[in-house]
Amino acid sequence: MNQPLRIVIAGGGTAGWMAANLLAHRFATIPIDITLIESKDIGTIGVGEGSTPTLKRFFQTLDIAEHQWMPACHATYKVNIKFNGWSGDDNASYSHPFFSQLDVHSERSFYVNALTRRLGLDVETTPDRFFMGGYLAKKNLAPIPSHNFPFAIEYGYHFDSHKLSEFLKQHAKRLGVEHIEGDIASVGTSVSGAISHLTCKDGQVLKGDFFIDCTGFSSLLLQKTLNVPFTSFSNNLFNDSAVVLATPAIDHMPVETESSTMSNGWCWQIPLRNRTGNGYVYSQQYQDKDKAEYELRNKLNLLDSDVEARHLTMRVGQCEQHWVKNCLAVGLSQGFIEPLEATALHLVQITIEQFATYYAKGNYTEKYQQHFNSAMTERFERIRDYIVCHYKLNGRTDSQYWTDNRENMQLSESLLSLLDVWYRKGDIVQEIKRQDIGKHFSAASWHCLLAGYRVFPEIAQHQPASLEEQGDLFEENKLSTFFNRCSLNFEKQKTLFTSAV
Ligand SMILES: Cc1cc2nc3c(=O)[nH]c(=O)nc-3n(C[C@H](O)[C@H](O)[C@H](O)COP(=O)(O)OP(=O)(O)OC[C@H]3O[C@@H](n4cnc5c(N)ncnc54)[C@H](O)[C@@H]3O)c2cc1C
Repeated sequence: MNQPLRIVIAGGGTAGWMAANLLAHRFATIPIDITLIESKDIGTIGVGEGSTPTLKRFFQTLDIAEHQWMPACHATYKVNIKFNGWSGDDNASYSHPFFSQLDVHSERSFYVNALTRRLGLDVETTPDRFFMGGYLAKKNLAPIPSHNFPFAIEYGYHFDSHKLSEFLKQHAKRLGVEHIEGDIASVGTSVSGAISHLTCKDGQVLKGDFFIDCTGFSSLLLQKTLNVPFTSFSNNLFNDSAVVLATPAIDHMPVETESSTMSNGWCWQIPLRNRTGNGYVYSQQYQDKDKAEYELRNKLNLLDSDVEARHLTMRVGQCEQHWVKNCLAVGLSQGFIEPLEATALHLVQITIEQFATYYAKGNYTEKYQQHFNSAMTERFERIRDYIVCHYKLNGRTDSQYWTDNRENMQLSESLLSLLDVWYRKGDIVQEIKRQDIGKHFSAASWHCLLAGYRVFPEIAQHQPASLEEQGDLFEENKLSTFFNRCSLNFEKQKTLFTSAV
């Protein structure tokens, strides 16, 4: 390459700045100019405050230590998502943990108990009791073990999204990314139909060889300019709106996101160091925005408070192609699966990493575009299925919303097949291998969901004598003793953060 490769990133939300950092890092050895343009007036979506463990790898790749970014973004650790009320009983909950090395010791027992329970025998199947995350969350312990603890622990984070964008902006600038403020007024194309330049309202023109569309739901480059069609997921993910409110920080500093059912959707609780993020995700078909805000305020005891609520609409689905000609969409511009499993930034990161790999492998051409697009489409669809399954299995009877979700038969072949195997008391591990979908959600995750929702037959009236004699298989395995002893190696998150100050 004689001339530097000119990459223009449109949009400075979390997606834009993650892309700027990762591309500057990955392409550091080639002549490259990366410019990011963002509008001061349009602003960012300002939500997206829970991650998966993939984000840990993001910071490791960039060689940014936790003590450098976490305090700056009011970040806390996250080991679980706790689902409250989804099975129909308001007091019932289960957690979906991030799986750590030591969980391989208990995974098998969990599968055995889940199968035993499916055969009608009364055994322990609450996921939290089989995995380290459940024990850490119960005691508000940070997932950072003492020095001699021999297992690596998986975890994600909660953080302030504005602060994270700001932190990543400063880091990208240090890596050589140029930052421009301006409102893109039009997008120019060449005779080949590729994007040639962006023109701003103030007359600035930005030329580039490759363009990354991070303009959020507006998808100014990929959808609006290159006319790439959008595939909606609204036939099986009904939610299209959210109302968001902040409350003070929780004193004991939990290490899990909570997701609690509401009359027509669900509400997240994300604990940060300085505040708690709350948001009610619902469908406007079933609930208008005023009622949604009232219900959220009521739940948070904020009916008499003048703290302002923010209302957002969401476009749930994905672009038919994520990379077209010389344009890649990243973040909300490429698609969004509603936030129940907090997978959006995970997808942002995977999109950039995979793109960088294929782009470099194809010598900075479109050679692997099709390959990349098929992989991304498949990834979105399989993550969608896992989230759809939450709604399909809900046990709530208090509104039409929940009934319609349960009765919805618009399910993919992949999901139907998984449910069929479970109901027939078959082997979910084998089914996931057969479908080759374990890289999206593992067999352990699927077991958590299906056992967490208690998708089980009635308990047999006569339990075999041998089982009664054995007592609870779970107790016999002494897993809880093992995990409780392990948890002695961890400190409370609050203590860890207070002592670090
Ligand atoms: C209700 C809700 C909850 C969510 N929760 C989670 C979660 O828990 N975990 C998670 O991982 N994700 C979550 N997400 C998704 C997450 O918020 C986004 O994936 C993430 O913030 C990235 O957004 P973005 O950068 O793509 O878009 P945005 O933040 O919208 O940024 C768009 C950027 O484009 C710029 N722009 C737009 N138009 C122009 C123009 N004409 N000229 C110049 N600049 C322009 C804007 O100025 C802005 O900088 C949630 C989303 C929603 C809606």
